[in-house]
Amino acid sequence: MGRAISPATRERLTSPAVAPIVIKLGSSIVADDRGDVRADVLAGICDQIAELHRAGRSPIVVTSGAIARGMGVMALALRPRAMDELQAASAVGQGRLYRVYDELLADRGVRSAQVLLTFFDISARTHYLNARQTLRKLLDWRVVPVINENDTTTTDEISFGDNDFLAAQVAILMGAELLVLLTDAGGLYTADPRLDPSAELIAVVDEFDALEGFQIGHATSPLGSGGMRSKVVAAEMATAAGIPTMVASGLEAGTVVRAAAGEPVGTRFAAREGRYSSFKLWLKYAKPTRGTVVVDSGAARALREGGTSLLPVGIIEVTGEFDAGDAVEVAHDGELVGKGICNYSAKELRRVHGLKSGAVREVLPRASEEAVHRDYFVLA
Ligand code: GLU
Repeated sequence: MGRAISPATRERLTSPAVAPIVIKLGSSIVADDRGDVRADVLAGICDQIAELHRAGRSPIVVTSGAIARGMGVMALALRPRAMDELQAASAVGQGRLYRVYDELLADRGVRSAQVLLTFFDISARTHYLNARQTLRKLLDWRVVPVINENDTTTTDEISFGDNDFLAAQVAILMGAELLVLLTDAGGLYTADPRLDPSAELIAVVDEFDALEGFQIGHATSPLGSGGMRSKVVAAEMATAAGIPTMVASGLEAGTVVRAAAGEPVGTRFAAREGRYSSFKLWLKYAKPTRGTVVVDSGAARALREGGTSLLPVGIIEVTGEFDAGDAVEVAHDGELVGKGICNYSAKELRRVHGLKSGAVREVLPRASEEAVHRDYFVLA
């Protein structure tokens, strides 16, 4: 695989860059249809990771394939449907999967570390900061983190995503310079190339709206749970944080190194103007919501157009059970207005919604004036 990289590419690769490159390998890259690890493919990708590492770059691997590998070990011909079986298959496969990376990277003179994260780790602010500290320390030590979701305790990426969102979150968490999502397809196409021979590769995506006319499939390989749709959403998250994202073939030689050298491979999603702080990105994409507050038209307009805080007086209905500090959806007339951290529990808010601030204080003397402060709110 190394031979596919030209001397000019090698030259460009050594451009000084401190921010990490997050490289995500989907299940279909990691394992074949029987659940056996594709040793030659992984060896080729580890060659490239070692090359980046030698060039002074900081690669971070996000890998799927634990379930696929576990299926192989347990001789399960079809991907199980039951969540507990998927989780157990992942537990069987994860250690074996990581060992392959560890050995391949060690053979190339690179130390690695296994990191298992959950969506919760990224949605709870202190865990988020702890995860960042650990990953930063590993990079300081020149160790390559090999990350997967901790499937034993959470199921987000099993249900949908195949680690696409996890990879985007890691890229945002670490302020990556580039996110590379490797698939068995060469990139994003105008239609599913397996079904439609006229499908064309989309080389650059500047505007996500431009993708609306295309059939971006949910179809996945028999092993994974992602598909192009989750890659587009992951790219939307990462590019909103200013991180260019590439969807490229993991089976083709040299893709990772060429992407890191700034060459066109697969589909490139251009970074967008940083509209949000890292806190707001975390809130928008990573923090799960626990309930909904329905607001009146005046409050909806003020949030959308005035960038104001939401006061209890503008709230007409509260659904779900949440505590103060949880994120809630803010809706109006059946449409999502945004998402924010609520200063009240659902129980408290049910007592005071619709009341003016003075009346709220009579019921709850120590409550904040804002139900959702503008600094803790993002528009949908
Ligand atoms: N964490 C899962 C794995 O490594 C995600 C992939 C999937 O949904 O199959 O197997």
